[in-house]
Amino acid sequence: MNEATLFAMALQIQEPLYVKDVEFDENIGELHIYIDFRKGSKFKCAICGKDKLDIHDTIEKTWRHLNFFQYKAYIHCRTPRTNCSEDGVHLINTPWGSPGSGFTLLFEAVILQLAKCMPILQIAKLVNEHDTRIWRIIQKYVTQAQETADYSDVHSIGVDETATKRGHNYVTLFVDMEQSKVIHATEGKDATTIKNFKDSLSLHNAQPSQIIDFCADMSPAFRKGIQEHFPSARLTFDKFHVLKLLNEALDQVRREEQKSVPALKFSRYLWLHNPGNLSETKAKRLDSLTQMKLKTTKAYRMKLILQDIYTTASGRIDAMNKLQKWYQWAVRCRLQPIKDFAKTLKHNWAGILNYFDSRLTNAILEGTNSIVQSARNRAKGYRNINNFIAMIYLLAGKLTFNFQETHASS
Ligand SMILES: [Zn+2]
Repeated sequence: MNEATLFAMALQIQEPLYVKDVEFDENIGELHIYIDFRKGSKFKCAICGKDKLDIHDTIEKTWRHLNFFQYKAYIHCRTPRTNCSEDGVHLINTPWGSPGSGFTLLFEAVILQLAKCMPILQIAKLVNEHDTRIWRIIQKYVTQAQETADYSDVHSIGVDETATKRGHNYVTLFVDMEQSKVIHATEGKDATTIKNFKDSLSLHNAQPSQIIDFCADMSPAFRKGIQEHFPSARLTFDKFHVLKLLNEALDQVRREEQKSVPALKFSRYLWLHNPGNLSETKAKRLDSLTQMKLKTTKAYRMKLILQDIYTTASGRIDAMNKLQKWYQWAVRCRLQPIKDFAKTLKHNWAGILNYFDSRLTNAILEGTNSIVQSARNRAKGYRNINNFIAMIYLLAGKLTFNFQETHASS
């Protein structure tokens, strides 16, 4: 067995292709493998697979392969083009990678694997390639996998927006609540993102009418979009978002009051967290503050009671009665931020009550959000929003990649 045969076996090259030559340049640290084909060979059309086609002409192509130790490895091939009566002139599919890519399949597979755990700029440095080439590999596989994904069994969607970098731009995420994976991500956070999601469904073997549940925050844009484009779906407002808004109202009350009650300074944390999660010292401080008959204390009690309704209501009717009482109390409480919150509650009444039927929350999205956070880190210097979105799909989309189905381009 000679050196060329060994490389042919390692690269799984089969007749009529063969390794013609192997060159090793020690000075610049590069290995070059030259592949050719036997005279008179016939090849398959890369598009339709029709066999035994004559060679139309050849084009010199080069692919970057995985490094051999510290040496960069390249495959060169005088690549045949066939002339198919159906599809015209195309480069053949080579077993090591598609001619359009410039990288072998194995190289691309390793890049995708690295991209799941390492920033792109770092990968670019590691393999000594420009980061735009790395992005192109990720875009290619993610787009292919995402486009062919089937959503025919998706029924329940969580919607949330995420900032790209420092709040300049937003991406809205649509998460399959049953599979907890991102199935759609699109730029913006307005009602058109919902239409964009609706339009995407038909490309994935799915229909808008099969989506029976949405869970979202009380953003008027999402509400409007969902009512317009998914009129028969049930919309549940995320309870964590509801409680977050109430916490914000509570903190406004505290900030206003601390002007006259200095003891309230630096006490934000005490009121926002669950009493059970406080350390002994903090619990004591909260205890002494709550003895003082403060407006903040009143707002705090109201928060605890609303929280309690969420955990103890036995069903929709029970919740409705309890919430109605809470609302009556809140609109008369003379704490403006709480009154404003109560109005928001009333305005979103049906969606808030829907929780007690659907029991949906965006807690699943919290997990997705931490993945998106790492996507943001991996995509540092990601150049454009599509790269950021590709990264979200790669990390949170649970995609299935297909390394067999590469299409030759001429
Ligand atoms: Zn063909």
